[in-house]
Amino acid sequence: MMRFLSLSVAVLLLAGSARGQFVRTEVTLPDIPPYKTLMCDFHTHTVFSDGNVWPTVRVDEAWSQGYDAIAVTDHIEYQPHREYIPIQYNASYEIARPRGEREGLIVIRGCEVTRVMPPGHLNAIFIEDASLIQTKRIGEMFAHDHRRGDYLDSIDHHHQDYLLALEEAVRQHGFVFWNHPGWAPQAKDGIKLWDVHRELIAKGWIRGIEVANHAEWYPEAFQWCLDYHLALLGNSDVHETEQIYERKARIARRPATLVFARERSEAGIREALDSARTAVWFNDMVLGPEKLLRPLAAAAIAVTGPFFVDGEGTRYYSVRNATDLPLTLTDTASGEQLDLLPRSSVVTKAAKEVKARSFSVKNFLVGPSDTLAVRLPFD
Ligand SMILES: [Zn+2]
Ligand SMILES: [Zn+2]
Repeated sequence: MMRFLSLSVAVLLLAGSARGQFVRTEVTLPDIPPYKTLMCDFHTHTVFSDGNVWPTVRVDEAWSQGYDAIAVTDHIEYQPHREYIPIQYNASYEIARPRGEREGLIVIRGCEVTRVMPPGHLNAIFIEDASLIQTKRIGEMFAHDHRRGDYLDSIDHHHQDYLLALEEAVRQHGFVFWNHPGWAPQAKDGIKLWDVHRELIAKGWIRGIEVANHAEWYPEAFQWCLDYHLALLGNSDVHETEQIYERKARIARRPATLVFARERSEAGIREALDSARTAVWFNDMVLGPEKLLRPLAAAAIAVTGPFFVDGEGTRYYSVRNATDLPLTLTDTASGEQLDLLPRSSVVTKAAKEVKARSFSVKNFLVGPSDTLAVRLPFD
């Protein structure tokens, strides 16, 4: 009886510790030396603007999904909870940051400058004090309790008040990027790059553009990033819990910005953004400049063999993808398709005289309609 009891206690203790453990799903991404590949989301909301979760929930979700870093970017000008939660522009960061430190998730201070188009919505991250990005005019509007529509419809068309907000973000050495340029409510006549954006890009104030946001991606924005050498961003813009967001948006995973950083740190991420060393992971697609996607694909794909040679000298090889990025390869000569799902391998053959084969990686886009071409050795 005694033995039985102590066994039960031991089983209970084990079960208890398993229940109490918070588990992170590790995401394996290929590094492209000398850079580490980091998975980041630079656009998230909390109850401190129009989000529906407490800042620590944002951190827990991102950590458990294998992220390296997030930015909390509550709206400056849109504060629909202010009747219940006072406007505190730095609160989401101040609450999220200590949680991130204890989990090993990098949390970056940010905010969303929220105006009509143009310029639309812009995120400023790596800022020092979000409260200073609220302009005097916006402060006065909140003081007089104008409705959201009042400031969105009036101020910006007649005054260039947004420039004051962006100027302050830049003064704080913030990294500013343009959010969801094709978001339907602000792009009724279709997505376009306005003169305002060209000017902000020329001044070095806009340094990146969201090529993917929430459940959509924008081919035009991809081309602008390549043309102007801007960082490509892919962010969730999550407002609900992660689970509700993924169900509402009907996506398998939230969009991520892949950052190729010299080190896994805030400074490392900042340097990579400044150098436009980023790519976007959106559903099954990876979008980015060819000079980054080529080594990324090369680091993910391994051809091993031959492990068998048949009577005609045809050699059999294993093509392996040990990462979490999917790769869909099509042989440009034969049309054979190799579906390299995450953490999988397939078998393929090479005729006696073949030393290498050329493939198009269908889901790695190096331009809005250009797929990455790779050549793999079969020797
Ligand atoms: Zn927005
Ligand atoms: Zn947003």
